Amino acid sequence: AAKQSGRGVARVFDESMDESIRFRRRIEGGLAQALERGELSLAYQPIVAGHDLEIVGFEALLRWNTEEFGPVSPAMFIPIAEESNLIHELGDWVLDGALAELAHWPGQYVSVNFSPRQFRRHNFVGHIVERAQRAGVEPHRVQIEITETAIFDDADRAAETLYKLRQMGFRIALDDFGTGYSSLYNIRKFALDCLKIDRSFIDGMGRERESAAIVHSIVHLGRSLGLTVCAEGVETEAQVQALRLAGASHLQGYFFSRPVIAELARDMAAERYMHSPDAEEEPLAAN
Ligand code: C2E
Ligand code: MG
Ligand code: MG
Ligand code: MG
Repeated sequence: AAKQSGRGVARVFDESMDESIRFRRRIEGGLAQALERGELSLAYQPIVAGHDLEIVGFEALLRWNTEEFGPVSPAMFIPIAEESNLIHELGDWVLDGALAELAHWPGQYVSVNFSPRQFRRHNFVGHIVERAQRAGVEPHRVQIEITETAIFDDADRAAETLYKLRQMGFRIALDDFGTGYSSLYNIRKFALDCLKIDRSFIDGMGRERESAAIVHSIVHLGRSLGLTVCAEGVETEAQVQALRLAGASHLQGYFFSRPVIAELARDMAAERYMHSPDAEEEPLAAN
């Protein structure tokens, strides 16, 4: 409720509007026109299988390049879009673009982020199903990434939504796992396929015992529940080795590739593996 009243609050304080609110307004205004101005694009980051580094999927990540501000990070503008219905417009654009891209890959899935507000949208399941059908895409090639915040507010309703999506054949990943409010009690109620370990834990792995312990626990938890476990934000070869040892089934991060433009992702998808077959000594070399 606090979130929804955000715009009203801004209006009340109009006269003493401070810089940050004004900036926010400009972002919001720019975002509303970003679509028609053609300022949006999608980047794709490969997700590889831990054991052989086959590229099994790509995560679609929204990019916004404005004349006014230059490139703006989704970490900055998604929360602003999330406070209004703009998120639905942007989200639909992302979903349609990601679904269309599948035709250019030999078999990989596309992983699409959905914010809490999108997930709680009326008839979310019907909406996704319809767009996938219209694109002629098989549901198993689509992974839906949601965060813990999206599902723990109204756990029963979320459980039902996830169950239906899974029934239809879509994959479900819990993004940024470990940073939200998940209780283990709730986790078992949800129809999930994948836990994505938040990159803050991967980042801390080599430095702190605590992060390494948490990574191991999440891998163990995921495997015990029959889920795949994807480590995000993998940046070093040492992390790759540690994560493989820990038993993470999937890896994603700058070490393999940054998010890339669609054309490059197509080339990578066609190659299928992150390493060339004759580079036995350096199977982990990126690009
Ligand atoms: P996320 O879904 O957790 O995506 C992972 C973020 O980590 C991406 O940032 C990605 O570029 C970045 N990343 C990947 N590998 C590494 C690494 O090795 N090191 C570091 N330091 N970072 C890495 P990005 O693209 O800026 O997106 C930030 C967040 O914005 C996403 O986090 C997601 O929550 C949100 N977002 C992005 N695109 C969309 C979208 O289409 N819809 C929605 N609802 N949210 C989106
Ligand atoms: Mg994500
Ligand atoms: Mg993530
Ligand atoms: Mg994240």
